[in-house]
Amino acid sequence: MNSAPISNIISVDVEEYFHPSEVQRTVSVDRWPDLPSRVEPQTMRILDLFDEKNVRGTFFILGWVAERRPGLVREIARRGHEIACHSYWHRLVYDLSPAEFRDDTRRAVRAIADACGVEPRSYRAPSYSITRDSFWALEVLAECGFTHDSSIYPIAHDRYGIKGFPRHPHPIQTPSGAIQEIPIATVRLSNGHIAPVGGGAYLRLLPYRYTAAGVRRVNHDEQMPACIYFHPWEIDPGQPRLASGTVSRLRTYMGVGGMYSKIARLASEFRFSTLTGVVPANLPASEARA
Ligand SMILES: [Zn+2]
Repeated sequence: MNSAPISNIISVDVEEYFHPSEVQRTVSVDRWPDLPSRVEPQTMRILDLFDEKNVRGTFFILGWVAERRPGLVREIARRGHEIACHSYWHRLVYDLSPAEFRDDTRRAVRAIADACGVEPRSYRAPSYSITRDSFWALEVLAECGFTHDSSIYPIAHDRYGIKGFPRHPHPIQTPSGAIQEIPIATVRLSNGHIAPVGGGAYLRLLPYRYTAAGVRRVNHDEQMPACIYFHPWEIDPGQPRLASGTVSRLRTYMGVGGMYSKIARLASEFRFSTLTGVVPANLPASEARA
């Protein structure tokens, strides 16, 4: 029995407020260059908070952002965080062919490496869009040099998720090599349902104690790390409200005002580190049990 506190994983998807899939329905790609950028000051707030709490995290950076804000990517690397990849165009993987996915991934890797000199080894798909239909993407990622992926949400959702998927870090063999899969934190409820606790709208909409209890449960009852994620725009109450429709607006903007203090509190109450720091690439299958 391990008495040392378990190190969890904190991750940030570095994208603009006009990149989430909910917003892309109303804002087309050709409008992106004309919209005011807000990603840099919000990411700097996160970097300062992480410094204050002595936390190192994994930053999944959109290639489109890396190309336009190379100084920000360098700053993330300079502060000791893991540089990771969040695609180039923020397109849903299950809408792409394997060849299109490969092109998008390679372009993103180039943009990120050109910005900071570090080739990302960890990948997160836009909107967790590696599902049963796009499971082939893991082989493409291995082919592109990735050792870690955090793109599969082990829940049933209308747009993403694989119901019944293993809930904890585990290696997946592909013909191009092994990938460590790191699912977002979930808890198993007494009725057998799997509930998400790891981030995004769930972290914003539900009270802090819900997330904290979930992380504690994963750490203490299951002796496993919990993977948490959020976005710079989720701590930005001043952002233009671009998503339309009640569900989209709720999923995108509700709870934005209280998000920063929730992250700060999590960082104070739990241990966090990077994806590759918590789950090494060569972890034997028996230790990275699902
Ligand atoms: Zn994203």
